[in-house]
Amino acid sequence: MVKLIAGNWKMHGTSADLGEVRAIAARAGELGGRVEVALCVPATLIHRAAEAVPGFTIGAQDMHANEKGAHTGDLCASMLHDAGAGIVIVGHSERREAHGEADADVKAKAEAGLRAGLKVILCVGESLAEREAGRAVATVAAQVDASLPQGPVDGARFSLAYEPIWAIGTGRVAGCEDIEEMHAAIRARLVAAYGEAGRGVRILYGGSVKPGNAAEIFATPEVGGALVGGASLTAADFLPIVEAGA
Ligand code: PEP
Repeated sequence: MVKLIAGNWKMHGTSADLGEVRAIAARAGELGGRVEVALCVPATLIHRAAEAVPGFTIGAQDMHANEKGAHTGDLCASMLHDAGAGIVIVGHSERREAHGEADADVKAKAEAGLRAGLKVILCVGESLAEREAGRAVATVAAQVDASLPQGPVDGARFSLAYEPIWAIGTGRVAGCEDIEEMHAAIRARLVAAYGEAGRGVRILYGGSVKPGNAAEIFATPEVGGALVGGASLTAADFLPIVEAGA
């Protein structure tokens, strides 16, 4: 299965950074079908970025589950699609924590995103306290069960990202054995939910992926790509990760 490497720019990036988008898209184009690459930029940049790099996937970092309505400041899937987004992240731990998003909200967003024609990356992950209490797998399995969109799903359009919260932006990376154990547990939940189609859903790892550790992470069984925050902001950092996944 071709790996999906998605960058999450979080609250970074203005039109001054379009050169990085162009450089990343150009190299991704050269790598052809060997790897799938996307950049999830701030909503304000989606339209300009998508126009700057036709054929390359620009994405969003969140969306509202409803199609329209009195939701000041929110954006729905069709608006993101209209702006040029091809993919959306839902359920990132920063949204779950800072905006009180529950599994049911994340599930509704994933379903709405898929309905609107967007690809979806759905994030799950445990806190440090949950890992230290020996509850990492149970916590993530419960999140997966409660967040998965109603099937059937197409693995080309729907991915899961396992992102241990304690590894995001901290420089701490989960050990490959822990990643393998967690991805196997997630795979079992996907197969329980979707049958054989669950085997086609890529499970990305996210949490301090860098040029120096990407190859080892990508060699771990059941790792179908990466969701990359800090190291996706520049072509110099992101492209070695993309190349490691190609
Ligand atoms: C993320 O934002 O999803 C992420 C994994 O961030 P970082 O790579 O910076 O840890």
